[in-house]
Amino acid sequence: MSDRAYRIPFVSTPANEAGWIPALQAAMPGERIVPLRELDAAELAACEVAIVANPSPEDLRRLPNLRWVHSVWAGVERLVADLADTDLRIVRLVDPQLAETMAEAVLAWTLYLHRDMPRYARQQQSRQWQPLEYVKPRDKTVGLLGLGALGEAAARRLLASGFRVEGWSRSPKSLAGVTTHAGAQGLATLLANTDILVCLLPLTAETRGLLDDAAFAQLRLGASLVNFARGAIVEDEALRRALDAGRVGHAVLDVFPVEPLPADSWHWTHPGVTVLPHISGPTDRVTASAIVAANLRSFRERGVIPPHVDRARGY
Ligand code: NAP
Repeated sequence: MSDRAYRIPFVSTPANEAGWIPALQAAMPGERIVPLRELDAAELAACEVAIVANPSPEDLRRLPNLRWVHSVWAGVERLVADLADTDLRIVRLVDPQLAETMAEAVLAWTLYLHRDMPRYARQQQSRQWQPLEYVKPRDKTVGLLGLGALGEAAARRLLASGFRVEGWSRSPKSLAGVTTHAGAQGLATLLANTDILVCLLPLTAETRGLLDDAAFAQLRLGASLVNFARGAIVEDEALRRALDAGRVGHAVLDVFPVEPLPADSWHWTHPGVTVLPHISGPTDRVTASAIVAANLRSFRERGVIPPHVDRARGY
């Protein structure tokens, strides 16, 4: 087989190409990772797999025999929507390093809320010397929405730091040390028990707008919210109402309905909101490329397409 037969397209934007192609190439010295535009007509026709980062659907349509795409991101809602009229398999990034990085962020911002840092910052601004009552982590419940790759790693970190942890997933799950729930009734129970709610759900038809007025009404009064998943899972105006009414004590938001967050957005100046610029779980190109390489190798050697997104579930 000629060297050219091993060229795998990376389908994305020029900005992403600059960072990703060298990292992917270093992880796969036996392959040639190239921008889509470098493939000739025969290669476009023969191509069965592409590595993608926010690809345009038009670009993917140039590959008539494409069977699957490997995304270098963990969240795939945009790909699922863009590829709805195709039967392409979508493989997403599942990287233990990403899970650990996200778990670190969950712990960091849980501690921020647990130790009332937003309140002490406000007190400092008004020169108020006012100690607040200390509550031990074992007397606080962190409610995790989503017990997947990221939720499980977060649960382990939180348990190791002494918090009570409850978790919610679509299908019933058993996780050592975690009180688990599933279904609508399970969500209501978890919300009623939760002091700090951490969202690590995928954005799907079922989770869009999940955290609405009704959900905030079920949440323990004054509980905090950490959204590290996707902005559209939270109904933005419902959150604003819940913050203004004191139903939600504080919200740490890393993700928003529109990103970058527009300058005139209410979140920037609301005293109950901490704005983060989508940094809770950055992808590590080196570890991610090693995962992509292993998945491509198993496809090359055994024809196996790795576990892929269930289109009906949307994740
Ligand atoms: P995952 O492994 O697919 O896990 C998803 C979890 O959510 C599973 O436990 C699943 O339940 C649960 N779930 C899905 N739909 C549900 C529903 N309708 N009701 C109840 N539970 C539901 O995903 P992951 O790798 O942990 O990633 C989660 C999300 O994090 C990604 O989709 C992405 O959007 C986001 N993310 C954000 C960043 C960032 O920097 N902010 C970085 C990476 C990822 P089952 O266990 O029953 O399947």
